[in-house]
Amino acid sequence: MSKNLTSRAEDYSKWYNELVVKADLAENSAVRGCMVIKPYGYAIWEKMQAELDRMFKETGHQNAYFPLFVPKSLFEAEEKNAEGFAKECAVVTHYRLQNDPDNPGKLRVDPEAKLEEELVVRPTSEAIIWNTYKGWIQSYRDLPILINQWANVVRWEMRTRLFLRTAEFLWQEGHTAHATKAEALVEAEQMNDVYAEFAQNFMAIPVIKGVKTESERFAGAIETYCIEALMQDGKALQAGTSHFLGQNFAKAFDVKFTNNEGKLDYVWATSWGVSTRLVGALIMTHSDDKGLVLPPNLAPFQVVIVPIFKTDEQFEVISDKAESIIKELKSLGVSCKYDKRTTHRPGAKFAQHELQGVPLRIAIGPKDLENNTVELARRDTLTKEIVQIDDIASTIKDLLEVIQDELFTKAKNFRDEHTTEVEDFETFKKVLETKTGFISAHWDGTAETEQRIKELTKATIRCIPMSNKMEEGTCVYSGKPSTQRVLFAKAY
Ligand code: AMP
Repeated sequence: MSKNLTSRAEDYSKWYNELVVKADLAENSAVRGCMVIKPYGYAIWEKMQAELDRMFKETGHQNAYFPLFVPKSLFEAEEKNAEGFAKECAVVTHYRLQNDPDNPGKLRVDPEAKLEEELVVRPTSEAIIWNTYKGWIQSYRDLPILINQWANVVRWEMRTRLFLRTAEFLWQEGHTAHATKAEALVEAEQMNDVYAEFAQNFMAIPVIKGVKTESERFAGAIETYCIEALMQDGKALQAGTSHFLGQNFAKAFDVKFTNNEGKLDYVWATSWGVSTRLVGALIMTHSDDKGLVLPPNLAPFQVVIVPIFKTDEQFEVISDKAESIIKELKSLGVSCKYDKRTTHRPGAKFAQHELQGVPLRIAIGPKDLENNTVELARRDTLTKEIVQIDDIASTIKDLLEVIQDELFTKAKNFRDEHTTEVEDFETFKKVLETKTGFISAHWDGTAETEQRIKELTKATIRCIPMSNKMEEGTCVYSGKPSTQRVLFAKAY
């Protein structure tokens, strides 16, 4: 294994980038802002996909697939959405290359092959999907439509970071159509709840559920629900969003239906998405200076067994034991890898699995054979113990649950310790400089104050928490009256 990681305290951002590359999750590609997701990183994404997909289906959704390209005339139909994404759009103008007569061996765009209408590479798919829904919806009997798509999208981001913000990213986008406003609102909130449940129970990441202020809302949405998480450097990360789109897209694409009273009305819409950014959230929430720390639910394999031997005979006996442990673990639903590579020494294997965050490591050596034991090491706490081999599988199954819970508790304690109620602007600035994290403070509800605070401190309103209680107060910046607190933070 190459030299140690930069520590988080030394340079958090360098630590993150090094970790992503050294743990073999992803790397930068030849395309600016686009990453190559390597097998170990992709395996984590697949685990996320599988669980989310299960949760979407359990709440009545089906998967479908729509085109990558959106004709410009469709893209611009919903004006706010188009305006919001225009600056980040990649656009296809031609459909053919040809040999360049002025530069032998080079190709150029064939000027004869210019598209009649330019195609936008989807930054999000409301336009193409609502143009399609127009043909699917005539009456209330055709509703609701509850569809999800797993896809890639392109947003020409200027400042990119592996997983957290890339120009092309993988995501899922739900697009639902409803007969009533109330039903669409319930759907938008329900899917935000699904994201929160997934983040907390599966990723062991505590999140705050809330709604965005107008300036942070999705372009074209009436309301944006979100889940916000706090990273170890005290910066917030928007981990998922769910939008109530009202009738904006139905009006833009003329999607009307006959309601149960026989009257024509526009259809109500929601959309919701999470992306490969969640892999970044996972890393930044749990990992340490030695590398990745993975919650058992998301680990590509939860246990690794490393044999320690000198002779072929010892290797054979150890392998027999390992195989029987793996079989038992499998029957309990625990995934396990037997690392019997002869190309690497045990020390190198230990270092690699530590860097890659495998939750539990079993080492079996000659002494263990004599004593009928193994050495069991936890990645999250870096503790080791010698345990009897006899009921090792059930011990491990229980321990994995303990690890999953403890990771959540640790992250939640960190978040709570880094959430400060603030009453005045001097303290506000001081907290941002020293402690960072979330600041809970009163805000007068105006975009001007929000903007001014952002300019002065770089902190933005992450959300208005759903759990808010109304309380009288005065705005932390303007001193004007306010009825509730909002959460501020510097964010990714
Ligand atoms: P939006 O459609 O803007 O509401 O975004 C949906 C989800 O994708 C949110 O969870 C965002 O945090 C995430 N996301 C937005 N932009 C990017 C990006 N450039 N790279 C990765 N994830 C992103």
